[in-house]
Amino acid sequence: EHAIKDYPPNTILIANTLTPAMLAEVPKGHLAGVVSVNGSANSHASILTRAMGIPAIWGIEDLPLLQFDGKPMILDAFAGRLYISPSQMLLDEYADLQHQDNLLNNRFLAEQEYESITLDGEHVSLLLNAGLELKTDQNNAHVCDGVGLYRTEAWFMQKGQFPSQLEQENWYREVLTSYYPNPVVMRTLDIGGDKVLDYFNITEENPFLGWRGIRISLDHPELFLDQLKAMLKANIGLGNLKIMLPMISGTEEVDEALGLFEQAYFELNEHFPEQQIDRPDIGIMLEVPSSVFMLPEWSKKVDFCSVGSNDLTQYLLAVDRANARVAELFNPYHPGVLRVLSKIASECENYELPFSLCGELGGDPEGAILLIAMGYRRLSMNLSSLNKVKWVLRRLSVADMEQLLSECLAQSTAKQVLRLTRNFMLEHNLGDLFYTPK
Ligand code: PEP
Ligand code: MG
Repeated sequence: EHAIKDYPPNTILIANTLTPAMLAEVPKGHLAGVVSVNGSANSHASILTRAMGIPAIWGIEDLPLLQFDGKPMILDAFAGRLYISPSQMLLDEYADLQHQDNLLNNRFLAEQEYESITLDGEHVSLLLNAGLELKTDQNNAHVCDGVGLYRTEAWFMQKGQFPSQLEQENWYREVLTSYYPNPVVMRTLDIGGDKVLDYFNITEENPFLGWRGIRISLDHPELFLDQLKAMLKANIGLGNLKIMLPMISGTEEVDEALGLFEQAYFELNEHFPEQQIDRPDIGIMLEVPSSVFMLPEWSKKVDFCSVGSNDLTQYLLAVDRANARVAELFNPYHPGVLRVLSKIASECENYELPFSLCGELGGDPEGAILLIAMGYRRLSMNLSSLNKVKWVLRRLSVADMEQLLSECLAQSTAKQVLRLTRNFMLEHNLGDLFYTPK
């Protein structure tokens, strides 16, 4: 229940199921951490807390929620532990750990503006996943090569109704301007699953297999056309927009979406004959397993693709990404997932389709290393991951990463893969990145 209305500094918010709206209620700077009894580290709300740099624990079982109110506690999100009324000794120990963590982050920050280049001279474009935090993330334009995923739905989720075309245009223009001249990949509305709009009711038995992403846009062309037109108008005079379509599973969806794009473009040109309206690149997300096998055809239709490894993992492993009970099974280091990611890279190279990855895996240093070895040269992630990944890849060579990858692809479990990646990090003096709880 929303009992507390006054959130003191250093609040740890404990909820049955934490939602983005609950996060928004706490004054900025007062939130020290969150605990959600339900949900998992791959849910939409979790991606939001990670982007905000807030320590979080998801899916903690048997928590007597109401007994903690007002008690001091330590939240250790690395280890997934919560200490209630901790002893002074524990407090001191954690103060020291926090200090070490800050020192490490300062080391990442010190290289924030350096080029993201490996020891053997390979440049890897590091892009930002943006849109979740409406204001702050636009100040970070100078540390990235652009935006690889702008989640437009986050803004829709904060509104009380569908924003008008003009409101959208103004908003998108502000975003495109902040990153100009670097590219901004704007994803069209990706609601459904665990992303809900208060003013657009979707009730389903299996929301992640239901009405999601492009399916909704194609069933509501009036919304889709509005959004496309707003993007195209916002891009006038700038030219750094790219448009990306989420949750594509079949050729009909690609064709229909491209057809509606043509309609939007044609109608705008008719209404504003004096304006020079650019045609942005249009790409698709690879999130549904069928899409991986359609690249021979789709590479002729679209300009680029980006792997949504969060959903791709969910669908390849048949694990609901927001369900705490099966959270342990959600593992992008599963050899099956890694082999698919590697196949995507070679197919895209084969068909000369520019490709990137924008799921959480790319923001994990060990994931980034494997992806770079597979051939990915564009990775999109949140800001704190970006600093960390840049710092790591500047200390490694692609040749070494490739050697690691070939060993990982030959493993049969995620555990074995992670043992290899962890050893690799230790051998390359990157052990500081791993915190080991006592
Ligand atoms: C993904 O699925 O990997 C992705 C980037 O999209 P979202 O997390 O918003 O579903
Ligand atoms: Mg997705």
